[in-house]
Amino acid sequence: MNMGTKLQKIVEILSKKYEINEWWGRYTPFETLVSIILSQRTYWKNVKTATERFAERFNGVGDVAKASVKEIEEVIRPAGLYKVRARRIKNIARDLIEKYDGKLDEILNLPYDEAKKKLITIKGIGPKTADVFLMATKGEQVLPVDVHIFRIMKRLRIACERDDYESLRAKLESEIPPVQRTKTHLILIEFGRRICRARNPKCEECPIKRYCEVRKNDLAMPNI
Ligand code: SF4
Repeated sequence: MNMGTKLQKIVEILSKKYEINEWWGRYTPFETLVSIILSQRTYWKNVKTATERFAERFNGVGDVAKASVKEIEEVIRPAGLYKVRARRIKNIARDLIEKYDGKLDEILNLPYDEAKKKLITIKGIGPKTADVFLMATKGEQVLPVDVHIFRIMKRLRIACERDDYESLRAKLESEIPPVQRTKTHLILIEFGRRICRARNPKCEECPIKRYCEVRKNDLAMPNI
């Protein structure tokens, strides 16, 4: 009999449902960072197309820092929200050059806490983006909490109103062993995209509905 916690049981059920794809690996650290920025609320296919175009057109951080916002917009257009994102990417490139001479590799050589501290000094990189980046480029065993994971955890009443990014991450990491964290992050996002959507979640076909407090008690659905 499985005596795991509610979170562990949920992850076990969802792991059997979804194939996950570690999409990083073939890009440089800076291209991976751009890809993470483009992936927020975007279909993978469009992220892939935009990242490939970006990797083909630009040659490193310095090149992007010098490019015009218009040029970046054109390249990343397939991912959508390209005006806001192009400005963000350009600012990150400029900040990286000014603060760290564009040397992302040197940041990556630091221990997790120090690397994260440096990354979040860059305007446009928050704790979640920093964690996903360190997970993707260094294999750091963290469990970044994105908007899907936050919503799912609220609906399951694993997250409470007081939780912020770091407290929820710590809560999830205390239950999920380090080697399973990347997979868990990806699986939960897949579940959030397909079933436990912000609007109109597919509760009827949800494989974990018996664990869902919102559903069981007919409570207001947090749409975040
Ligand atoms: S029952 Fe509905 S709200 Fe609850 S976890 Fe499943 S999809 Fe999300």
